[in-house]
Amino acid sequence: MPNYQEFHRRSIEDRDGFWAEQARRIEWQTPPQRICNYDQPPFARWFEGGTTNLCHNAIDRHLKDRADQPALIAVSTETDSERTYSYAQLHSQVQCMAAALLDLGVRKGDRVLVYMPMIAEASFAMLACARIGAIHSVVFGGFASVSLASRIEDASPTVIVSADAGSRGGKVVPYKHLLDEAIALSSHKPQAVLMVDRQLAPMALTAGRDHTWASLQQKHQNAVVPCEWVDATHPSYTLYTSGTTGKPKGVQRDTGGYAVALAASMETIFCGKPGETYFCTSDIGWVVGHSYIIYGPLLAGMATILYEGLPIRPDGGIWWSLVEKYQVTVMFSAPTAIRVLKKQDPALLTRYDLSSLRTLFLAGEPLDEPTATWISQGLGKAIIDNYWQTESGWPILTIANGVEKAASKFGSPGVAMYGYDAKLLDESTGQELLGADQKGVLTIEGPLPPGCMQTVWKDDARFVKTYWESIPGKLVYNTFDWATRDKDGYYFILGRTDDVINVAGHRLGTREIEECIAGHPNISEVAVVGVADNLKGQVAMAFAIVKDTSGLVDDASRFALEGEVMKLVDQSIGAIGRPARVRFVTLLPKTRSGKLLRRAIQAVCEGRDPGDLTTMEDPSALQQIKDMV
Ligand code: ATP
Ligand code: MG
Repeated sequence: MPNYQEFHRRSIEDRDGFWAEQARRIEWQTPPQRICNYDQPPFARWFEGGTTNLCHNAIDRHLKDRADQPALIAVSTETDSERTYSYAQLHSQVQCMAAALLDLGVRKGDRVLVYMPMIAEASFAMLACARIGAIHSVVFGGFASVSLASRIEDASPTVIVSADAGSRGGKVVPYKHLLDEAIALSSHKPQAVLMVDRQLAPMALTAGRDHTWASLQQKHQNAVVPCEWVDATHPSYTLYTSGTTGKPKGVQRDTGGYAVALAASMETIFCGKPGETYFCTSDIGWVVGHSYIIYGPLLAGMATILYEGLPIRPDGGIWWSLVEKYQVTVMFSAPTAIRVLKKQDPALLTRYDLSSLRTLFLAGEPLDEPTATWISQGLGKAIIDNYWQTESGWPILTIANGVEKAASKFGSPGVAMYGYDAKLLDESTGQELLGADQKGVLTIEGPLPPGCMQTVWKDDARFVKTYWESIPGKLVYNTFDWATRDKDGYYFILGRTDDVINVAGHRLGTREIEECIAGHPNISEVAVVGVADNLKGQVAMAFAIVKDTSGLVDDASRFALEGEVMKLVDQSIGAIGRPARVRFVTLLPKTRSGKLLRRAIQAVCEGRDPGDLTTMEDPSALQQIKDMV
């Protein structure tokens, strides 16, 4: 096994040699002629001259070895259904969907918008697009018509694939009227709409435009649709960021680089083996779902579980029961989901036989120590934090146990992954911070490795301006996250650069303060924001959810708890980080993907307009804060 440091060093210093080797992990119709064309920074063109197909690599290439092995396991605790598709069955379903899309007028390079719940047909649609060289744009099924309309407008899809309804906690959420409204709102009109009828909600079909999957499925039952070989640089999809810090950005991804990066990550980071089962609890509407529900596991010849439902229904043991039943070896979830489980009976973690499970990966937001400890001790399994972005498509910081076994450090997602030339820079001078434990903005020297975004969809200028021109005098990719690195190369994310607060000249990450407050035994979750202050420039303000509220009967008891929390901050960070107020709420404003909307809280605290809130989950959380301040 090579030494990881050496592996990483080579990926930067012998970039082309390194990635030429990695490129052999996938099948090419024509091998790449040039590994990385970085003649026009910051635009990287990976594997130029190569032609391949994502669907071929995810499905067809496995048929000779594992046609009858499970590929997709679609489980819904919403409709009480479970169905396993073998690679051969998935192959035929995807061809059928591909034929239907072609029939509806979709051609190579056209966009297909997928607005779907977590059902098998959603994955057929994504894979069918890849098969025919169409570009999918998956929109999270929880979005309402205004958000959906702006994405229809931006993607200008030839066809939209949708379903009659989603379902959440047993409650049917009809989609069709939202879709119709969104199409009416958008100036772009799709040629056709393909509706999957789950028979959960009535849907009115528009004659001439709307078609049902059932009818097209029948028409194209045994369709044979060969894979369209596309250039490595051909876009495979567009996908929006979560909108935590502002208006979501449309990320455009290529084909060849993405396939290579995912295939490499499956072996080096996730250590998943062909024939095993991977269970990622994310949603196909997010990047984690694209990379590690659909493409990554299938590229690796694994079975992948597509789960529709809550983590606590019928009870908090549902995920672990699936691990037992399907012998899951690798699992991937988010801290926000683990915090939901943490409120349930911990005995549920040990009710099932989890001997197959090797590792639980968590990503999406900072993993706080109490949550990490609770889940790793409860399961008795290794937990691996990994840090990345919609933009990157695969982990930027984590541990690559498939290259060399290394220990995780609590509070750190890990070290820079191969291909990422990560650097901490001083935000105002652009100077690199080489010493240990210095705070700076996490940046990546170009070119971004394979798998990362090519550009902002239809907006090269925004790509350059947003990501590459924010540090004075340097063309460098800005993650907009604030971090430190210790002497062993482990990074610690301190929060978003937007969330760094400046108290009387001291720069503090809100994450540091949150981490400290979350250590209080009676606090389950907390958001800290910086609020303008005449005297100090900014002060911290905390909003916390209390675990056991029975003691909070009056102002005096609330005041006492507030005092305890402040003392905790005083002790570990110092009075400089002490929040001016700690207010107790029952809910915190979050995006649909479960990320804290600190900018909205901050705006409300400062009496400003909170900006784009289209990706917010439950508006009542922000209202609660508004009422308080
Ligand atoms: P937007 O870019 O639209 O504001 P977003 O940044 O939340 O939204 P995503 O791409 O979904 O959109 O999230 C990436 C961000 O999530 C990272 O930049 C980082 O702030 C945070 N993040 C992801 N994983 C981790 C992790 N393991 N630890 C800490 N933070 C993480
Ligand atoms: Mg972001």
